[in-house]
Amino acid sequence: MLYSQSNIFIILPQNMSERITLFIDVILPLAVPNLFTYRVPYELNEVISPGQRVVVQFGKNKLYTALIKNIHTRVPLDYEAKYIEGILDTRPIVNEYQFKLWDWMADYYCCTPGDVMNAALPSALKLASETKIMLTENYREISVELSDKENILIDALESSHELSLKECSEILAIINVQPYIKSLIEKKIITVKEELQFKYKPKTEIYIGLDNKFLDEDMFAAMLNALEKKAPAQVDLLMVLWQQIKMNDQQEVRKKDLSKHIKNVDSILKSLEKKSIVYLMHKRVDRLHNYDKEIIPPVELNTEQKLACEKILQSFSNQKPCLLHGVTGSGKTEVYIQLIEHTLKQNKQVLYLLPEIALTSQIIGRLQKHFGNDVGVYHSRFNEQERAEIWVKTLRTENSYKIILGARSAIFLPFQNLGLIIIDEEHETTYKQQDPAPRYHARDCALVLASIYKANVLLGSATPSYESYYNALNGKYQLAEIKNRYLGTLMPQISCVDISKIKPGERIFSDELLSEINTALQKKEQIILFQNRRGYTPLWMCETCGWIYKCTQCDVSLTYHKNTGQLHCHYCGSTYKPLNKCKACGSHHVKMIGFGTEKIEEELAILIPEAKCSRLDLDSTRNKHAYYNILNDFENQEIDILVGTQMVTKGLDFSNVSLVAILNADSLLSYPDFRSYERAFQLCAQVAGRAGRKDKQGKVIVQTRNPKHWVLQKVIANDYIGMYEAEILERKNFNYPPFSKLIQVTLKHKERNKVAEAATILYNNLKSKIGKRILGPEKPVIEKIRNEYLRSFLIKSEKNSNYKLIKQEVVNELHKLQQIKDLKQLRFIIDVDCN
Ligand code: ADP
Ligand code: ZN
Ligand code: ZN
Repeated sequence: MLYSQSNIFIILPQNMSERITLFIDVILPLAVPNLFTYRVPYELNEVISPGQRVVVQFGKNKLYTALIKNIHTRVPLDYEAKYIEGILDTRPIVNEYQFKLWDWMADYYCCTPGDVMNAALPSALKLASETKIMLTENYREISVELSDKENILIDALESSHELSLKECSEILAIINVQPYIKSLIEKKIITVKEELQFKYKPKTEIYIGLDNKFLDEDMFAAMLNALEKKAPAQVDLLMVLWQQIKMNDQQEVRKKDLSKHIKNVDSILKSLEKKSIVYLMHKRVDRLHNYDKEIIPPVELNTEQKLACEKILQSFSNQKPCLLHGVTGSGKTEVYIQLIEHTLKQNKQVLYLLPEIALTSQIIGRLQKHFGNDVGVYHSRFNEQERAEIWVKTLRTENSYKIILGARSAIFLPFQNLGLIIIDEEHETTYKQQDPAPRYHARDCALVLASIYKANVLLGSATPSYESYYNALNGKYQLAEIKNRYLGTLMPQISCVDISKIKPGERIFSDELLSEINTALQKKEQIILFQNRRGYTPLWMCETCGWIYKCTQCDVSLTYHKNTGQLHCHYCGSTYKPLNKCKACGSHHVKMIGFGTEKIEEELAILIPEAKCSRLDLDSTRNKHAYYNILNDFENQEIDILVGTQMVTKGLDFSNVSLVAILNADSLLSYPDFRSYERAFQLCAQVAGRAGRKDKQGKVIVQTRNPKHWVLQKVIANDYIGMYEAEILERKNFNYPPFSKLIQVTLKHKERNKVAEAATILYNNLKSKIGKRILGPEKPVIEKIRNEYLRSFLIKSEKNSNYKLIKQEVVNELHKLQQIKDLKQLRFIIDVDCN
C-alpha cells in the first residue's frame, strides 16, 4: 500500500509487525460529537505528531482532511480502525496550547470539536470536506494494467484536471468508487489533491541589484560613459539605482521604487539585464506591510496614567487580570503601548484584541509607529491568503510576530510564548460570536487562553460591561482607573434636544441641531452623526389600514434602500420591488416611515448643500478599500460631516471633530432586553467620546422624545458608576448576570405547530430536571427567519448551581427531542452565556 506525505509516496514494507501499532484520534471537520480513531501505518510512526493534518476515509466513500489530536496504542473497541490515507504536514499546524483552548470551548459552549476547529483555522488551511483527486505529474510514463473504470476516470481527469470523489461516483455511475481511487493511487496514476497546501502562496516582489563589478565607483562611471550616448534612459535608471543602493546601504532596490522615478522601467531593465549590468530577483515579502518609517519610542505617561500602569503591573505580579476603566481619550492606548513594551522586553508575545469595527488603520498605525514590523494584524477584512500567512508566521518560533492585533478570531492563532493579552473595548458585544457554533465570547476565551499560557490579561474600556466591573469590585480582577482625559481636556458637553414636538417622519434635524451643525461648519470643524439604522427608510406602511410590508421568509419589516431602488430584508437578504398599493386593503396611501443613514445623507445635501458629507455603514463599505478611503478622507478633512451606524462609534480618534449627534436615542432605549440600558449608555458614551478629543471641549447633541429619561440623564452627567449601581441592583433583584448565567435555547422548524409542540415537550422534560431555572417558551421578537419558525427558552443558572450539569441536561433533552419521530426536522441552537 502507498501513503502520501506531502505528495511524496512511500511504499510500505510488508512485514514490520515487530513494531508497535499506533492509533490516532482525529478531529473531523464535521459537527460530530466524538473524535475518531485511525490506524497509523508503521512507516509513519516516526513522523506523526499531534496537530498535523491527515487524509482519512469517513462514512461510505468520503475522504476528509482531519487533524491529529492524540496518538496512542489503544485499540478501539467498538469499531475496526481504518488506516489513514496519508499525512499532509511535516510539522504540526496547531500546538498543544490551542488544543487546550479548543477542548475547553467545545465543552463550555456545548459544541463539537469540529465546530471549534472550523472556527479556529483560516479557510486556506481548512479542511475541505470534498477532497479532490488529480493526475500525477508523470502518470503517462507508468505502464500498468488498467480496468475499464479506471480508464474512464483517467479520461475524465485529463479533460477536467481535477474531480471530487462525488463527481467520480457520478461519472462511473456507482456509489462506491473508493476501490478504484485506491487502486489508481497505488499505481501512482492519481494523487489526492490537497488544495490547502497549494492555496497558500507567499507573495514575492521584484528587486533589482547592480552587478558586483559595478559597485565600484570608477567601474560604474566607466560603464555609464560607455552607455551615455546610446541609451540615455538606461543611464537615468542606473543613476537612480546607484543612488538608492548607496543611500540605503542595500544590495537591491524594489522595482516599485524605481518605477516611481522612471518610465518604462520594464523594457529598460530588460536591456540592462541582457548586458549583465543589473540582475533581477524575486524576494519573499510580507504581504501585509513593510513598515519602513522611523520607529519612535513610546510617549511619556502623565501622572494618572503612570499610576494606572503601576497598578496594572502590580496585579500582573499577583497573576490577577486587571480591568482598566478610563474615560474616552484618557490615554488607555498609550498605557497599553507601555505594557506591550514591557512584555516584549521579557521576550514574550502580545495579543491585542479589538472589536472588528474598531480595528482601524489608525490603531494599526499607532502600534507600528512604535513596534514596526513586529506587529501582525489578523482581520476578517483581509483575504484568506493573508490570514493563512499570519497563521504560518505565528507558528514559527524564529521570526514570528511579537504582537498580534486582531479581532475575535485572533484568540485561535498558534502563539508560542504569549505573555500578555489586552482586550480593548472589553464591553463590546461583537466579541461574542452569534452564528455559527461555537457561540463563544472572545473575552472569556481570552481569559482561559491566558491561564493556559500563564499570561497576563488586561481588560480596557470607558464603559466596562457590568460583569467585568462587578468582578473588579469583588476582587476577581484588579481595578485601575483613569478619570481624566489626557492634558485635562474636558469631557464633551452633552445636551438632550426634545423632539417630541416634531411629528414622526416630518423632520430628521431639530432646529437646535441644525444651528450647531452650521456653527461647527463655519469654524471649519467636523461633525459625526449617528443613527443605528442603515438604508433609506425602515418601514413601508399603509396609512389606511396599518399594513406593513414584510419579508415573506422572515417576520421582519423591509427597509427601503434608495441606491438599489428596492426593499431589503436585513435578515435573509431578499429584495422586493416597492409597491404603491397596499397588499391588504388596496389603498394607494402607502408611506415610508422612519429614516436610515441613506436618507440622512440625502437630507443633508438638501439642507446644507455646501457641506461635504459621507456615509459609513455596511452598505457604503462593501469593498475593503471603501472603508479605509472614507476614514482617510475624513481624517484629511476632505469630508465635513460623517453619517454612520455603529461603525462611527468605535476607536476613531479625529482631532477636528467638535460636534457629535445621536439622531434618535429613543430607539436605543426601547429594546426588550435586560441589558438595553447598559447598552444604550455604552453606546451614547462611546459616540460622545468621538467629540473634542484634542484641546477643545466637544459638544454632543442627543435627540429624544423623552429628555428626562434617567438613562439619558446619566449619559449627560457622564456618570458610569451611578448607572452601574442602579442597574446592578436590578440585576440582583431579578437574578440576572452577573448574579446568574444565561443559556438561550432556540428551536427551529419549518412548521409552526411542530415548533410549538417541540417547545412544550422540551419545557416539561427540562422542568423536571432543572426546575424553575427554565423560562419560556417564548415567541422571539422575530418569530420567523428564513422560513423557519422559532421558539426560545432562557435558562437561568444561579451563582452556586452546577452550570456544567445544567448544560448537560439541556443538551441531553435536546438530543432526545430530535429522536422523536415526528420532530426529525427540528433544529436547535444552544447559546451559552447568551448576550
Ligand atoms: P483612549 O484609548 O483612552 O481613548 P488614547 O490613547 O487614544 O485614549 O489617547 C487620546 C489622545 O491623547 C491620543 O491622541 C494620544 O496619543 C494622546 N495621549 C494620551 N496620553 C498621552 C501622553 N502621555 N503623551 C502624549 N500624548 C498622549
Ligand atoms: Zn392598507
Ligand atoms: Zn427575510
